[in-house]
Amino acid sequence: MVEEQRMPRTDDDLDAVVVGAGPNGLAAAVTLARAGLRVRVYERADRAGGGATTRELTLPGFRHDVCSAVHPLAMESRFFREFALAERIAFRTPDVSFGHPLDGGRAAVAHRDLARTVDSLGRDGRAYGRLLRPLVEHATQVADLIGTTLLRIPRHPGTAAAFALRALEQGTLARHARFREDAAPALLSGVAAHAILPQPSIAGTGAGLSLTAFAHARGWPIPTGGSQAISDELVRDLLRHGGDIVLDHEVADLHELPPTRATLLDITPKTLIRLAGGTMPPRYLRALERFRYGDGVAKVDFALSEPVPWANPELRRAGTVHIGGTHTEVAEAENRVHRGELPERPYVLVSQPSLFDSTRAPSGRHTLWTYTHVPAGCPADRREAVIRQLERFAPGFRDTILAVSSRSAHDLEQHNPGYPGGDIAAGAPDLRQLLARPVLSPDPWRTPVRGVYLVSASTTPGPGVTGMSGWHGALSALRHEFGIRTPPDLSPSS
Ligand SMILES: Cc1cc2nc3c(=O)[nH]c(=O)nc-3n(C[C@H](O)[C@H](O)[C@H](O)COP(=O)(O)OP(=O)(O)OC[C@H]3O[C@@H](n4cnc5c(N)ncnc54)[C@H](O)[C@@H]3O)c2cc1C
Repeated sequence: MVEEQRMPRTDDDLDAVVVGAGPNGLAAAVTLARAGLRVRVYERADRAGGGATTRELTLPGFRHDVCSAVHPLAMESRFFREFALAERIAFRTPDVSFGHPLDGGRAAVAHRDLARTVDSLGRDGRAYGRLLRPLVEHATQVADLIGTTLLRIPRHPGTAAAFALRALEQGTLARHARFREDAAPALLSGVAAHAILPQPSIAGTGAGLSLTAFAHARGWPIPTGGSQAISDELVRDLLRHGGDIVLDHEVADLHELPPTRATLLDITPKTLIRLAGGTMPPRYLRALERFRYGDGVAKVDFALSEPVPWANPELRRAGTVHIGGTHTEVAEAENRVHRGELPERPYVLVSQPSLFDSTRAPSGRHTLWTYTHVPAGCPADRREAVIRQLERFAPGFRDTILAVSSRSAHDLEQHNPGYPGGDIAAGAPDLRQLLARPVLSPDPWRTPVRGVYLVSASTTPGPGVTGMSGWHGALSALRHEFGIRTPPDLSPSS
């Protein structure tokens, strides 16, 4: 955590305020400060970072990512590319981006190397290669496509068409025509399930295909020191360019903020209604009220005496593992969650960062990050269900547990109001809400209230540690409130 905090300036000095120091709030603040504005950030928590923080959740010396842990989206995001994140902090990128165990000690594995993955997938290898190769070869174009509003004409129509056709095929029943065995479909359903949508779905498949393309392009990196390292670097840059942050300060009403020309809000539409509903035109307010939140997650973190004893040794090299069995089983578990039920054999996302980063646990020990999907707002403690699924594919896992921290979907919202009902996407990322996030507009970050911008993951382009909503919102505010049309240089040298 960055210790340095400047003395807050006087309120009269400020050009802009940002509410919320998550990745999007910080990206917005950095962008404004880099344009020469005097910026202050207010954050309700005792440290900056929102969904990118790292804490000792179990035992002393075991450092766990509280929310996000694995960062293909940060690596590919236009904002973080301009910010040169990969040059500023150290990342570890596992050779196996993600794996998916199947019963009987088998596993499907997405090596970073696409050709190796094709070889490992037997009779379906070539079909998998044909599906992914055009997206892997143009991974940066895919990132730019999903990093902005779908209402704009794509800059790379060929890549956009290739992406859309593949999402359409894999997101519908047409997907059954491509593969003959169970490994490739399991691998793809495990990554599509990140979207927390019913399966199959075109939007979930689109998210899955982009993440899979990134897995074979620059990999799925893990920051040394945890996700907090990303937030700390953003804070450092903000302070270096004259901004300041006020921690432990929950903003309860927009009227309590110092008067500035721009107010950028890293909050959900639900919180915006609470903070400023009275000042919103009724039509916009209704659109905010219609915005739908998705299902939730329950998070379970472990301190372990040794690495997870996966039955399949390939998984011991994977940065991320998707548990849930065959694609039919994953779909069934996800669809049960969507119907409001708790599956007995749930889909579980697993990452073991201490395999790649020795700063996460005392020598020889390990941290394990997991979460599983649950119905919105569910108060259930899911530790037993998660442990059972881990035991299924890693017999003896239970004996490696030193301590557990378990948080329900309900707890997640208490920890951060940015995740209503435990919805870590801050709004269901289905097709409708990818187009209208939170409203149908080419500039969805700008609200009808003069100078007020919404910049959280509830706005385009949506969830993930990308900083893109914050960056887009800040560029819009620079244009409309300050007449600045050229995006500021974000590179470390400027
Ligand atoms: C369990 C979990 C796992 C995840 N895994 C990944 C992953 O591996 N990779 C990935 O890319 N993404 C992951 N995500 C998603 C990612 O963390 C979010 O999409 C991202 O953090 C959203 O950024 P944000 O800035 O919009 O919101 P947030 O990160 O939620 O930040 C919002 C900030 O605003 C503050 N705030 C809210 N209201 C107020 C107020 N009234 N006054 C002052 N401050 C306020 C909050 O305290 C918070 O710090 C995960 C999320 C969770 C919860």
